[in-house]
Amino acid sequence: MAALAISACSADKSAADKTEEDFDYTVDRFADIEVLRYQVAGFEDLTPRQRILIYYLTEAALAGRDILWDQNGKYNLAIRDLLENVYLNYDGAKDTPDFKAFETYLKQVEFANGIHHHYSCDKFIPAFSRDFLTAEIAKLPADKQPAEVETLLSVIFDPAVMPKRVNQAEGADLILTSANNLYEGVTQAEVEAYYNAIKDTTIPDPVSYGLNSKVVKRDGKVVEEVYRVGGLYSEPISRIVGLLGQAKEYAENDAQKAIIEKLINFYTTGDLRAFDDYSIAWVEDTASQVDFINGFIESYGDPLGMTGSWESIVNFRNNDASHRTEVISNNAQWFEDHSPVAPSFRKDKVKGVSAKVITAAILAGDSYPATPIGINLPNANWIRAAHGSKSVTIENITEAYDGANHGNGFNEEFVIDAPTSELLDKYLFITDNLHTDLHECLGHASGKLLPGVDPDALKAHGSTLEETRADLFALYYLADPKLLELGLLDNPDAYKAQYYKYLLNGLMTQLVRIEPGKDIEEAHMRNRQLISNWVVEKGAPDNVVEFVKRDGKTFIQINDYARLRDLFGQLLAEIQRIKSTGDYQAGADLVEKYAVKVNPDLHREVLERYATLDIAPYRGFVNPIYTPVTDADGRITDVTISYGEEFLPQVLRYSRDYRTLR
Ligand code: ZN
Repeated sequence: MAALAISACSADKSAADKTEEDFDYTVDRFADIEVLRYQVAGFEDLTPRQRILIYYLTEAALAGRDILWDQNGKYNLAIRDLLENVYLNYDGAKDTPDFKAFETYLKQVEFANGIHHHYSCDKFIPAFSRDFLTAEIAKLPADKQPAEVETLLSVIFDPAVMPKRVNQAEGADLILTSANNLYEGVTQAEVEAYYNAIKDTTIPDPVSYGLNSKVVKRDGKVVEEVYRVGGLYSEPISRIVGLLGQAKEYAENDAQKAIIEKLINFYTTGDLRAFDDYSIAWVEDTASQVDFINGFIESYGDPLGMTGSWESIVNFRNNDASHRTEVISNNAQWFEDHSPVAPSFRKDKVKGVSAKVITAAILAGDSYPATPIGINLPNANWIRAAHGSKSVTIENITEAYDGANHGNGFNEEFVIDAPTSELLDKYLFITDNLHTDLHECLGHASGKLLPGVDPDALKAHGSTLEETRADLFALYYLADPKLLELGLLDNPDAYKAQYYKYLLNGLMTQLVRIEPGKDIEEAHMRNRQLISNWVVEKGAPDNVVEFVKRDGKTFIQINDYARLRDLFGQLLAEIQRIKSTGDYQAGADLVEKYAVKVNPDLHREVLERYATLDIAPYRGFVNPIYTPVTDADGRITDVTISYGEEFLPQVLRYSRDYRTLR
């Protein structure tokens, strides 16, 4: 038995159990949103020096807040001021429909960092009257009266004005019809012509064109306004640079100091080559425990996928949990050699992707309040190929989701019986994390193509089948005694929690994201249904998995977990054969037969049962508060952490203390 890992995992579990009782995860619920809080376990175990480093980095994270608001829409900051001033000045009755709707709208805007939904990108429709808002604006003191009030009112109330933040509809001018503030006065054709003229496609290491700029027309000419000190967003960027300079004094080592210096250089010059320089140093630093991203990173906010939305996440490595991914990576060859696929499709030498588990200390910009549970950066393809990438799981965020899920009624509604629910309560969290680790570290990295097979042979079904392959690899090995031997699980039945939840999701509950009458399109959802439907059908002669009806409700019952594992293994062998040989037709047949179509009766039933639970489709987080401890000379000697701040007070405090634009 590998005692170290056993103790790491059981320690994880008991810590999670304890926090479920003691820690209050739920913060707020409005519209389609639930706000949670996350716990920064292990902060107390860091050194005071690391805590001070984190403090300055979290301040640098919050200092960039207004950048994202302005990137998301030209009027966002003015509207935020207007709404917050009205809210803080309001002294009328708080139980009127108008005020309640106003408060909900304010929370929606604060959550989305602007007037468009963070996920759908559609403009929010206020449920209060224009008269209500106009009357409240009139009551504001003179110094709080907004400029251009008529413009702001029409942006808020007129559905035809700036309806969508990011428009992806084919055929439209995506720049003119998107309400974001990444372009101004230019058409899509002009932007494309501009970039085509400056892009050098002949070099192997191109910069990320447009990542840190707004494209505008000046004197009839298309130009970039670069985000940098002395350029666009100079005020917040200068503040970030100052705080990074202070953080640098507390760097854990010279490599980390150099990383911070390179980031400061990028923010100061705006030079994209300097950003690549920084990214390479960042991806190569695996020694530091404290880590962070701070910059213009993901480009989903730009319909052309060029400009990065500003974001920051500060974090530190969870050493106990990272041991788990290390054990898996170190045993990559054993898993490859024992997989159920044909030997000719296995890799002779497999190297597990290095990954770590981290604890988030602050979420900011585009990662606040809605946040990813994993990050894989940098984005530049040539840097990934030449220098690798960092893949992380933010486990205190997944832990908060898990904690909040307890008691929301979901298991009671959809899980077949109490023993299965208990199994899920006990082992779903750890087996979910292990599933992700096996999928990411080993699943995608396993197997090989036969010589001459085109890697794109599976075409449009490639990503669904690739996710299927990685999931099956994880599912197959979750039930392997090797995981007990490696100390990653402490109970031979633990895997059943993941098997049950996986099939429940793949056969039923993931349908809550599909509108009635629609097919499944997203690759991960297709992959889950493909696997689930296939094992139900192939296991039918032995009744491995069955649907049972109770009081008119459908439930999943797994009768033979060992046979189910065999079926996962058989399907893995077939999917690997399809991939290794580039058998497009067999892949397409599997996807079309098992992954796309939805049983309309079951779909309707799932939607109805889910609706009774009132579970929010979208969730996000408030941050903890970090307070410096100072000595008699005012020098910071340590930092403490506290929780308990509610959502609206937190964003109002951020607006007051981290205001840098306008
Ligand atoms: Zn994947």
